[in-house]
Amino acid sequence: MTDAADKIQTGPVSFSVVIPVYNEQATLGELVRRCLDACEKTAVPFEILLVDDGSRDESANLINAATAANPGRVVGVLLNRNYGQHAAVMAGLAQSRGDMVITLDADLQNPPEEIPHLVAKIQEGYDVVGSVRMDRQDTLFRRLASAVINKAVQKTTGVMMHDYGCMLRAYRRHVVDAMLECDERSTFIPVLANSFARRTTEVEVRHAERAAGESKYSIWKLISLQFDLLTCMTTLPLRVLTVLGAIISLGGVGFGLLLFVLRLIHGPEWAAQGVFTLFAILFFFVGAQFMALGLLGEYVGRIYHDVRARPRYFVERIVGATALATRPVAPDVHQDR
Ligand code: UDP
Ligand code: MG
Repeated sequence: MTDAADKIQTGPVSFSVVIPVYNEQATLGELVRRCLDACEKTAVPFEILLVDDGSRDESANLINAATAANPGRVVGVLLNRNYGQHAAVMAGLAQSRGDMVITLDADLQNPPEEIPHLVAKIQEGYDVVGSVRMDRQDTLFRRLASAVINKAVQKTTGVMMHDYGCMLRAYRRHVVDAMLECDERSTFIPVLANSFARRTTEVEVRHAERAAGESKYSIWKLISLQFDLLTCMTTLPLRVLTVLGAIISLGGVGFGLLLFVLRLIHGPEWAAQGVFTLFAILFFFVGAQFMALGLLGEYVGRIYHDVRARPRYFVERIVGATALATRPVAPDVHQDR
């Protein structure tokens, strides 16, 4: 359905700002105002896409009002239920028309005033511009977890970005198009984008405390996001598991043989003393199996989601002309041969 989706309006825009919104009624008014001010400073045509991720508060109505008050500049994309931040951003990317796309959070933790800086960086020729939160205003737990994860992502992807959790980022159009081609259901956008980018850079940005309400990420949602990040990035753990399993089994066989030989040499009394060693080994095996099963489960779960091939989201309403309709058709396409 989304493939055939029309773009919401026509006319060129230089950049699109995509903002996922989930129960953010308290900050929406200020968000739109500050975004419009910041975007106007760039003096190029722009659009602001507010993606309502199935909010239960007044967010959707406020988005409708903002759209009506700023025709052609603010666009609302209303999803039919809550799909999560990254799916919501993908829905916004699919509707965006700009040569560059900026993403940011709706809770004003990312100051919209940074938008012109990101636009300027892309214009310098970068494919992806990340941002590093200076003086980050989050809990110690979140900051520590981020530090570990950022290091792991740097090692795995080889792209030296320092703050993958910050969604204030800018992408060039071809990177956005490449991301939209990906059919996977579990995505972690900053990592996905970097896999299609040749030139990346980072800028330092300010970070504010959440203006109102609570973080929409419970501990479970955060854990789920980390697994999305892992599986989006690499299948290396699967290979590591296989290798580790092989080493452990070979070790087990070797150890069994050794025990057997020593038993022959030193007699049964000696062997009885090895009982506790065997217990230790048993526990080790049981632990290893559980870890392996847990991780396999993560992947199998995702394969299950992809095999079901449910659309990532449903856009309720779209108006306008498709890019397909304007593409020239080769003259011999309809001739019978
Ligand atoms: N968000 C969303 N869907 C969700 C959860 C969050 O669209 O299911 C949006 C939310 O409205 C905000 C952004 O994603 O604009 C980041 O969420 P939040 O500020 O709660 O995350 P945190 O800053 O705590 O990482
Ligand atoms: Mg936030």
